[in-house]
Amino acid sequence: AEMFGQLTSGLEAAWSKLRGQEVLTKENIVEPMRDIRRALLEADVSLPVVRRFVQSVSDQAVGVGLIRGVRPDQQLVKIVHGELVKLMGGEVSELVFAKSGPTVILLAGLQGVGKTTVCAKLAFYLKKLGKSCMLVAGDVYRPAAIDQLVILGKQVDVPVYTAGTDVKPSEIAKQGLEKARKNNIDVVIVDTAGRLQIDKTMMDELKEVKQAINPTEVLLVVDAMTGQEAAALVTTFNLEVGITGAILTKLDGDSRGGAALSVKEVSGKPIKLVGRGERMEDLEPFYPERMAGRILG
Ligand code: GDP
Repeated sequence: AEMFGQLTSGLEAAWSKLRGQEVLTKENIVEPMRDIRRALLEADVSLPVVRRFVQSVSDQAVGVGLIRGVRPDQQLVKIVHGELVKLMGGEVSELVFAKSGPTVILLAGLQGVGKTTVCAKLAFYLKKLGKSCMLVAGDVYRPAAIDQLVILGKQVDVPVYTAGTDVKPSEIAKQGLEKARKNNIDVVIVDTAGRLQIDKTMMDELKEVKQAINPTEVLLVVDAMTGQEAAALVTTFNLEVGITGAILTKLDGDSRGGAALSVKEVSGKPIKLVGRGERMEDLEPFYPERMAGRILG
């Protein structure tokens, strides 16, 4: 299925109502704007975001007037395209690398979102950019998570630093970073514990790890299938811990689009990378422009 197929067809309903019109007017955009609003809400974009979006699109639509050779429905598509790009943050938000010494990327996220997989995918991605990587197993609550990281590390041929489950995560992270420094590793990716839900212990631990290793990037991994809930999580983690961005996973599933469209606007933090499958190569930068193009079909 095409990504965000339902959203795409929901928006198409809006354009189709303008066929045969000469120009966009206050009157003839009422119905299309209703369609746009409905399509975004059905895609699980949060209501305040939808309201602002619709307001901005209608303001622009009423103002364009008659443009020779451009049909009103095409004009509306163009306006919506621009707003979608803006909503998703406009420019690509690149990963930041440390000026000297290893770049440290701290990964956080709830259980099951794909965080462990992202650790390995990210290493695989960075290796292709010519950077040497090391993974650090900081999820001390699930021995299985450590084993999984070791297996994935082997798969992408990247060393994994482990210290069992009896050492504090902040200590493990420090030791891992020390080892990476000695071995001239470019990027250290630190995995942390995922919980089923946010709790204080998780946040405190994350803060402690962050303080111990002063990471270049703190990225929250969120599941696209959770829609606007993903945006709410990014907001919470940012307020509690301070993060630099998000990684959106499972964009290949039948997610409706709400997460991709809401994260930046709701949390103020950009989506930096997206996961689009289970294979190691299925991680790529988040391109707002391309995403908007895909949504519009
Ligand atoms: P963690 O609990 O957050 O560490 O999650 P895992 O990394 O163990 O991933 C949970 C499940 O989601 C695994 O079966 C992964 O293969 C799967 N998964 C992770 N990322 C993606 C993705 O982008 N697309 C799809 N379809 N599955 C994914």
